[in-house]
Amino acid sequence: MSELLNVEEIFASKVFTLSKMQERLPKAIFKEVKQIIDKGGELSPAAADVVAKAMKDWAVENGATHYTHWFQPLTGITAEKHDAFVTHPDETGKMLLEFSGKELIKGESDASSFPSGGLRATFEARGYTTWDITSPAFLKEDATGVILCIPTAFCSYNGEALDKKTPLLRSMEAVSEQALRIVRLFGNTTATKVVPSVGAEQEYFLVDREKYLKREDLIFAGRTLFGAPAPKGQELEDHYFGSIRERIGSYMKDINIELWKLGVTAKTQHNEVAPAQHELAPIYETANIAVDHNQLVMEIMKKVAGRHGLTCLLHEKPFAGVNGSGKHDNWSLCTDNGVNLLDPGDTPNDNIQFLLVLACILKAVDVHADLLRQSAADSGNDHRLGANEAPPAIISVFLGEQLQDVVNQLIETGAATRSLEGGKLMTGVSTLPDFDKDATDRNRTSPFAFTNNKFEFRMVGSSDSIGSPNTTLNAIVAEAFCEAADIIEAASNKEMAIHDLIKEYLTKHQRIIFNGNGYSEEWKQEAARRGLPNIPSSIEAAKALTTEKSIRLFGKFGIFTEAELQSREEVVYETYAKTINIEALTMIDMAKKQLLPAVVGYTKTVADTVLAVKEAGVEPVVQRELLQKLSAKLEEANDALHLLEEKLVVAGSMTNQKELAFYYKDEIMPAMTALRAPVDALEMLVDKKDWPIPTYSDLIFEV
Ligand code: ADP
Ligand code: MG
Repeated sequence: MSELLNVEEIFASKVFTLSKMQERLPKAIFKEVKQIIDKGGELSPAAADVVAKAMKDWAVENGATHYTHWFQPLTGITAEKHDAFVTHPDETGKMLLEFSGKELIKGESDASSFPSGGLRATFEARGYTTWDITSPAFLKEDATGVILCIPTAFCSYNGEALDKKTPLLRSMEAVSEQALRIVRLFGNTTATKVVPSVGAEQEYFLVDREKYLKREDLIFAGRTLFGAPAPKGQELEDHYFGSIRERIGSYMKDINIELWKLGVTAKTQHNEVAPAQHELAPIYETANIAVDHNQLVMEIMKKVAGRHGLTCLLHEKPFAGVNGSGKHDNWSLCTDNGVNLLDPGDTPNDNIQFLLVLACILKAVDVHADLLRQSAADSGNDHRLGANEAPPAIISVFLGEQLQDVVNQLIETGAATRSLEGGKLMTGVSTLPDFDKDATDRNRTSPFAFTNNKFEFRMVGSSDSIGSPNTTLNAIVAEAFCEAADIIEAASNKEMAIHDLIKEYLTKHQRIIFNGNGYSEEWKQEAARRGLPNIPSSIEAAKALTTEKSIRLFGKFGIFTEAELQSREEVVYETYAKTINIEALTMIDMAKKQLLPAVVGYTKTVADTVLAVKEAGVEPVVQRELLQKLSAKLEEANDALHLLEEKLVVAGSMTNQKELAFYYKDEIMPAMTALRAPVDALEMLVDKKDWPIPTYSDLIFEV
């Protein structure tokens, strides 16, 4: 029997929760902290010292020796620098561990080695981290010991955001303020803020660690750059929700335990569509905490894999030919007195507040489709979006039957008088109960789908931070709320104004609604007719950041300055060029040192056979044909290899980051594809025991 697991006991055991603060802090100080968490403001220096001491004592009691300001630079992952609690010993040689309020609240770190897109030159290296009091501190335990992690925002010397958290927090305040104006119109006088809630479903692949270590492409690029398809893919649909194998199951159990200890509500786990692909979903929570927790989910997934002899791949497209991985970002808005603005109720037709909110969101998504697309862009995701799998690169909104029907009524007659009901589902078996159906079926192909009481933004890549998508969502919806509230507040007949606005927005922006199959070719053509943007790559999406429309939007709510937007666009180009460069170099290395030499060796074996068979007096027809095929493909691969090398030399002489990024997309990527094709063909010709690296079958079917 395995040890009994007490989830209630271990949950958040490594988190300095509000209840631990309440226990350890004097009443007045706890009140001050709680007040700031709820309403904003700054902790007084005296209070900060008390909180720091309590936090340190708790951490030390739990084995901590160091603390770190944990932050999220534009690399998309987290960063930390550890400082021990040690201080100068006194004259007797005794040392007391210390941690001051100042150290808790503000850290200074060399910012010059993080991406800044030109916001600061390397000689202006100062960067500051500041405590995000709304996200609880936690303990991380690994070979370095136990570290107290303090979630922080990261800014330059001049206060420009260098991270994913600062703009997110700014956007949360913006959407809260504007959403409050909307609920006030409907008589809600008690809510004091509106909070975006987020739940991120995380997809991932697991491969055997020993095999992983034999593949340079997985090590350096996180995805396979070569590899012929296995005889079987995902066509039998036998992996999705399939029973979970022992090795994977014990891995899942382990990540759940680690996450629960960190206060992450890991809830759902299952096998995904592709072989070796899985998913984990936590319960939704306040946006900034969900963003922090998703980073922890990714970190724990990678760390725990090692213990099971596995490696976790978070890349969006580790394997060609089977599904890639994404991250469904579920998003909604709730008032602090418990009203979900996206809950339509049973009869959405007479839920006017919901209809106004919905109309505003449709307008926001239509007006800023390019920005939303950009917020989910990274080079890995380019292999998913628009490449015949979930979801397409065109932004559209799925509403489902029931809401679509209400929207149609509103557009046609200006009033909605009825809502479709779900009806009963008859099981036809006397021992199974009949039950109420949902009023709307699911749709798996939409990038932005309404699901019950939330929107599910499905474009986000599996390796990406969910910071940017949520910042963008909050910002564009804040803008739409603000514009609506401006009009309605100024109207003499508010009821009439609301009514007119809903009809106007729905009519004007209905082109963004699409309830059909988002993967189909017809949709691409239809979307083009509707004038919806179809932006295939991350670097083409980047310019959405600095359009006049974007600068106005983010400037209006103080989320990004123009300089910050320009820097973020620049970072996209830099990161893209660097990423593809690593991939190209990895391919060259593998081709030159492993794959082509293996083929050369094998051709010799075949050539020897040809001679031997001939000598024995038999015509070596098949052997000769194989030899010819091998030689032809080998030559093709060799030519492609040289071409790729030449193109990289050209790239090396380019200095403009944007031009360089486009050169990598338009010249280097096709050259990489041209090298991969003959090498994959060779893999199919060469004897398996002579192929020097694990194949797709080895990697995804033998985990
Ligand atoms: P579905 O099956 O439609 O994907 P789930 O209930 O499985 O929906 O939820 C998926 C994710 O959405 C979970 O992380 C869940 O916590 C989150 N979620 C549910 N309701 C909301 C909401 N109101 N706001 C944000 N996220 C939500
Ligand atoms: Mg879902």
